[in-house]
This record gives sequence, structure tokens and C-alpha cells, in this order.
Amino acid sequence: MTRVFNFSPGPATLPEPVLRKAAEEMLDWHGSGMSVMEMSHRGKEFISIHAQAESLLRELMGVPANYRVLFMQGGAIGENAIVPMNLIGKTGKADYVSTGDWSKKSIKEAKSYGKVNVAASGEASTFTAIPARSEWKLDPEASYVHICSNETISGVEYHWTPDTGAVPLVADMSSNILSRPVDVSKYGLIYAGAQKNMGPSGLTIVIVRDDLIGHALPICPSAFNYQLQSENDSMYNTPPTYAIYIAGLVLQHVKDQGGLKAMEAHNKAKAAILYDYLDNSSFYSNPVAREDRSLMNVPFKLKDDALDDAFLKGAQAKGMIQLKGHRSVGGMRASIYNAMPIEGVKALVTYMKEFEVQNG
Ligand SMILES: *Cc1c(COP(=O)(O)O)cnc(C)c1O
Repeated sequence: MTRVFNFSPGPATLPEPVLRKAAEEMLDWHGSGMSVMEMSHRGKEFISIHAQAESLLRELMGVPANYRVLFMQGGAIGENAIVPMNLIGKTGKADYVSTGDWSKKSIKEAKSYGKVNVAASGEASTFTAIPARSEWKLDPEASYVHICSNETISGVEYHWTPDTGAVPLVADMSSNILSRPVDVSKYGLIYAGAQKNMGPSGLTIVIVRDDLIGHALPICPSAFNYQLQSENDSMYNTPPTYAIYIAGLVLQHVKDQGGLKAMEAHNKAKAAILYDYLDNSSFYSNPVAREDRSLMNVPFKLKDDALDDAFLKGAQAKGMIQLKGHRSVGGMRASIYNAMPIEGVKALVTYMKEFEVQNG
């Protein structure tokens, strides 16, 4: 068996020990005689798996007691509608900060549910920088302020937490959740699709402060109503049971590795190897402002895009896959989530050097 270094932006590489454990437990979970996939979500076995996953997430992220953790479906794109359906009703208005493709999608979707004010936009810098907090034009009557904490496509990331005063901060953390410590108490709501850093697709994590629950618009479907889901321990409808199980194994693995501080150190070390090389090369380039560079998704371009195909082919031959950049920005993108080992990044840089020598 040969495993590749998978630089996919998502669904993304998972820790090998997690996959091995899932394989071991596939036919018979802990002597139950069943696969987790075959269990009733209301049986004691699955309820224990669910409770363990929630408790690990709470412990790792330091989720305060006045926040609910919901395991939902619909992904972050689903949350683009679910968040306003649950939160915008308070005043009918919300502020959004536009920093790239994902926040633009959030803004577009939210407009169906209320008045959306784009409080700041990185458009002038072609989304290569996060607009400074001093430039944001916030509405004190907004129901919430929405940000995307890491733009997976253009590779810009907040390395600070915006102060939005009494207005709750809502963050799409799909591509950087669990990558570093977060002060959850500074947010009203955090959501994330699991498939970047936490598990397989099909599971969406929502961490929401108690007082923001219970204001859903009447049109909100029951399965997406935070209050109903909270009252039913995320089991108002059948939750994505297998994805929750794998997320639990990933969370345990993160804990065994030393938790989110250790993840941050590991991710900083990996990203530094790649950015240092990019900055010292005239063959490759990354357009993002240094202070806003993502530790998770590193887009880069070759000097001549006619070489892109040869670069990708050569990488593939060396067992490095999914390096093609998003079609909207072109070039390359290396997604280096928690589960990407430092050896993967070193192998990539070694290959990039060889390619530069041969084609530079
Ligand atoms: C991947 C991603 C999404 C989309 O997630 P879906 O699961 O496809 O809904 C949204 N926001 C960000 C920041 C992402 O990285």
C-alpha cells in the first residue's frame, strides 16, 4: 500500500491512525457486533460516540458552558442560509465582511433573508488582504457580523479576532477550525463543514451562544432550526452518524498530539517552509499580504502558466496530488491542513526546487 501526499482543499487528507482505527472497528465496534454505520442513532452505543465527540470538541476548543454544540448537515453552504434564517430575525439586518469567494457566497445567500450590509471588502486588493478593522463600517443594529476566518481559495486568513462590540461575531471556520486555539467566547457563532480539518463530508459543526438561539424566521425548516436541534441534542433528524464517529476519532487524535496549541506550532512550521521558499524564489509567487497569509491553504503561481500541466504531472508522479489551484484563481494551491505531515511539505518543496532548476 502506498499513500499519497494529498494536498486537496477538501474533502482532505485524514490522520492515518484515524483511518486505521476506523478500519479495525468497521465490522464490530467495541464488541457491539455492529458497524457504527449500522447503529441506531438513539441506541446507547451511538449516544456514547456522539457524547464523546462533543465532549472532546468542547475540551479542545475550550467551548464555554453557555454555548451549544450542534452536529448538523448541509455543509457551510447550507449554513450560509441557515445562519440568517436563525439569527437575522432579531433586527432584520446583518453585516458581512467580504474577503474572497466564500464570504461572497455567504453574502449572496443571506440577501434572501434580510438586509445585508457589506461592512468591508477586500475587493480593492483583489482579495489578497483582510481589510483592517478600522475600515469596517459596522451597523450597531445588525443582528450579527459575519466573517470567513480562512478563505480556502485565495489563502487569506484572519490572524486576529475582530472586535464587534455588542453585536455577535459569526465565523465560517470550515477550513481552519482545529488548526490553532480560538477564544470561542469572542464569537456568537462558529460553523464549519467537517471535511477540511475534522473528518469526512456530511457533518457540519455549529457552536452557538445560548442567547442567539430561539429567533428563527418562521420559514426556517425544522431540521435547520437551532432551537429544535439544541433541544433534541442534534437528533431532531437522523444525524450523520458515521461522520460524527470519524470526527470523534480525529478529535481524539488531535488531543493525543497535544491539542490545538500543538496543532498551531505544527501548522506554523509547515507553512513557514513553503512560504519561505516561495518568497526566496523568482520562479514561484504568492500574492497574499504576509500578515494575512493562510496557514492552511497556500496558493502559488509558476512564472509561466504554460508550465502548470508539467508541474502537476511531475508532482503526481512523485505521489503528490490535488495541487491544482481553484479554477477562479488558477495556478497551484497546496492545502496543508492538520493531517498533512511536515514530510509532505518538505517533499513538495524539494520537488518545486527540482522543477525550478529544470525549467527556470
Ligand atoms: C469548503 C468551504 C465551504 C463549503 O463547504 P460545503 O461543505 O461544500 O458546503 C464554505 N466555506 C469555506 C470557508 C470552505 O472552505
